[in-house]
Amino acid sequence: VSVRLHTRVTRIQPDKKTVEIEGDEQLPYDYLVVATGATPRSLEVPGKDRPGLFYMRNLSDAIRIKKFIATRKCRSAALIGAGFVSLEMCEAFNKIGISPRLFDRKNLPMTRLGGRFGKQIVEELTQHDVLYLPDSMVERFSSSSNDEIIVHTNHGAYETDLVLIGIGVVPEVSLAAAAGIKIGPTGAIAVNEHMQTNIPNIYAAGDCCESFHRVSGKSVHLPLGDIANKQGRVAGANIGGQKIAFPGIVGSNCFKLFNLEIASTGLTLREANETGFKADAVTIEGRSKPHGYPGAEKIWLQMVAEKESGRILGAHVIGKEGAVNRINIVASALTAGLRVADLAYLDLAYAPPFSGAWDPLHIAAQRFLK
Ligand SMILES: Cc1cc2nc3c(=O)[nH]c(=O)nc-3n(C[C@H](O)[C@H](O)[C@H](O)COP(=O)(O)OP(=O)(O)OC[C@H]3O[C@@H](n4cnc5c(N)ncnc54)[C@H](O)[C@@H]3O)c2cc1C
Repeated sequence: VSVRLHTRVTRIQPDKKTVEIEGDEQLPYDYLVVATGATPRSLEVPGKDRPGLFYMRNLSDAIRIKKFIATRKCRSAALIGAGFVSLEMCEAFNKIGISPRLFDRKNLPMTRLGGRFGKQIVEELTQHDVLYLPDSMVERFSSSSNDEIIVHTNHGAYETDLVLIGIGVVPEVSLAAAAGIKIGPTGAIAVNEHMQTNIPNIYAAGDCCESFHRVSGKSVHLPLGDIANKQGRVAGANIGGQKIAFPGIVGSNCFKLFNLEIASTGLTLREANETGFKADAVTIEGRSKPHGYPGAEKIWLQMVAEKESGRILGAHVIGKEGAVNRINIVASALTAGLRVADLAYLDLAYAPPFSGAWDPLHIAAQRFLK
C-alpha cells in the first residue's frame, strides 16, 4: 500500500480512470473509493476569519487549538452551536480550567430528543460551570483593545479568548459531483448496498456518502465514525471480489457529557410521524439498578413505537449510567423488527449490581402496552 500524505486530489476523471493531484500529476486507478469525509459548516458572519476562531474536525484542528490555548494562556472559550462535539468540548475545556460559554440558537440543546432531555443537559452544564446561552444568534466577531475576541449576539457582546464553532458538517462531495458521481437527496453521495456509486468502479464510504436507514427506509446522511468504518470495509471487500452488502443503519449514537450518558437510536416521535408512521411515545423515569441498591442512578427513557402494530421505532435515554447499554438493546430490537410486546418480557440478564428485574426498557414497553 502506498500512502501519500499532504496530497490533495483535485479532479477525478472517470473516463480516463485517473485522479489528478495538485501539481497536475495523474494517478491511474482500476477502482476508486471516495472517502473525502465531511467539512464543518462555516459560520458566515463578519469577522469570521479573525485569529482565535476554530472548527474541530480532525487531529490537526485539536493540535492547533491546544497550541493557541498554551501560547495565549486562554481562560475562557465561546462555543457556538450545541451539538455533541460542542458539548464534549465544553467538558474538555472545563477540565483544563477554561470557562466555556455555550451559544445556542435554539432554546435547548439536543432539541431532537425533546425538552425533558434538553433540560437535563442544561442542568449538567450549569452544575459544571458552563454558561448556556439559549436563543443566541451570533452576528459578528470583532477584537477588543487587549486583543480578546468579542462575540456579538442578538443578546449583547461577550469577550472571550477563543471561539469554537460547531454548527454541523456537510458532506465533502465537490470532487465527486464534478466527476458526475450521483449526489443523493441528502447532499451526500448516493451508493448502493455494496457502497458502489452510479459509476461502477467508483465506490464511496464514510461521511461523504449516504446510508440506508432501516427504520425509515430512506437514505440519510449520518456522519459517524462507526458507520464510516463499516462502509469502508464493505467497499474494500467488494472491490476485492467478495459480494457483501452493507445492511444499513438504525441511527444509533451516544456521547458523554460530564457525568451524563446520552444515547439514542431509531426515530424520534416527530421523525416517525413525519416519515408516515402513526407513532406514539412513552417516557419513563427509571433506575439504572434496583431502587435502594447502592449507586442506583435515575434514568430517563423515551420509547417510540407504531401505535397499531407496536413495532419499535426508536428510543433515547439519558442518565448517569446505563443509557448506552439500553440503547444498544433497542438498536438490536430495531434491526430485528421487534415489537413492544417482545420487549415487554424480553429475557435480559438481571442481577442487582446491573439492573432491576424489571429493567427501564421493560417498564417503558409495559407502559406502552397499557
Ligand atoms: C470532535 C469529534 C468527535 C467525534 N466523535 C465521534 C464519536 O464519538 N463517535 C462516532 O461515531 N463519530 C464521531 N465523530 C465523527 C467521526 O470522526 C467521523 O464520522 C469519521 O471520522 C468519518 O470518517 P471518514 O473517513 O468518512 O472521514 P474523515 O475522517 O473526515 O476523513 C476524510 C479524509 O479525506 C481527506 N480529504 C478530503 N478531501 C480530499 C482531497 N480532495 N484530497 C485528498 N484528501 C482529501 C481529509 O483530509 C480527511 O483526511 C466525531 C467527529 C469529531 C469532529
